[in-house]
Amino acid sequence: MTSKIYDTVIIGGGPAGCTAALYAVRAGLDTLMIEKFSAGGQMTQTRQIDNYPGFPEGVDGFTLGDLMQKGAERFGCGVLRAEVLSVGLRTDPKRIVTDSGEVLSRTVILATGADHRHLGIAGEEALIGRGVGYCAACDGMLYRGKVVAVVGGGNSAAADALLLSKLCRKVYLIHRRDSLRAARVYHEPLRNTENIEFRFNRQVKELLSDGKLTGVVLTGGEEEETLPLDGLFISIGRSPVTSLFRGQLPLSEDGYLIADETTRTPIGGVFAVGDVRTKTVRQIVTAAADGAVAVHYAEEYLAGT
Ligand code: NAP
Repeated sequence: MTSKIYDTVIIGGGPAGCTAALYAVRAGLDTLMIEKFSAGGQMTQTRQIDNYPGFPEGVDGFTLGDLMQKGAERFGCGVLRAEVLSVGLRTDPKRIVTDSGEVLSRTVILATGADHRHLGIAGEEALIGRGVGYCAACDGMLYRGKVVAVVGGGNSAAADALLLSKLCRKVYLIHRRDSLRAARVYHEPLRNTENIEFRFNRQVKELLSDGKLTGVVLTGGEEEETLPLDGLFISIGRSPVTSLFRGQLPLSEDGYLIADETTRTPIGGVFAVGDVRTKTVRQIVTAAADGAVAVHYAEEYLAGT
């Protein structure tokens, strides 16, 4: 694998990566997209996407990811299913070491996206898959008829609570403030859903378990409260996946790769696209747009202009 030098290698197969792949192959670049799991990235955890144009009935995220990858493959994009272990971005060509071998490329488009943020409390990591989860759309079915809680006050927590209320006997929505950050459109449905109960001004202090989660202890009220639970969904936002690039590229205070609307990073031939980059609006459509922009500047770089 080491003898070949690609024009561009894209790390990550979410909407930003897939769009970069599509534009790159259509521009005639020898292109490889590397993806750890299936294409789609964070979209694969959303059952119904209604704000990506072209799908009047909405589309599930897994299908949209698959369609995006197939679109790039149709024009000859190579796809490597592998985990990237390290990158050398300052060398020429640039080196990407994966668990399936080393890949060389003249330009690299970083599209690693973001991961679920963790609460960071004792026992959380050990209880993942044993009552603690981060994706209601993926794991909600496991809690049919059970009692669960969602932590968070943003759009994701609101959407997760509503989704779970259709499956579960009872859903607690635990938020550290006295009002939700989620868009207005969620407030009334949440209030009008009988089996959703709010716990405002509360924080999860402790996870209770007997090998799997049995409940949580909440602080913030006059007294601590113990909620017996079968499941806890932590929906408190996302953090960018940048550990591979630390020390090579500058990160913003909250850990994003610093790049402006051109997607160019301080290293020539290296571009950051989608949710991993500093930007104001993180949506599928803005991630896809980044992919197209990055290829424009990658072509410029390759042409030496
Ligand atoms: P978010 O908007 O950043 O909200 C995160 C929530 O978690 C906030 O309420 C925050 O509390 C809380 N939180 C953060 N850290 C916490 C901690 N350590 N302990 C307790 N609570 C904590 O994240 P998101 O809801 O995942 O949404 C991410 C992005 O996707 C947003 O731009 C959102 O609009 C978008 N999104 C859109 C839709 C939709 O349009 N239907 C659906 C889902 C997501 P504070 O309020 O106190 O900061």
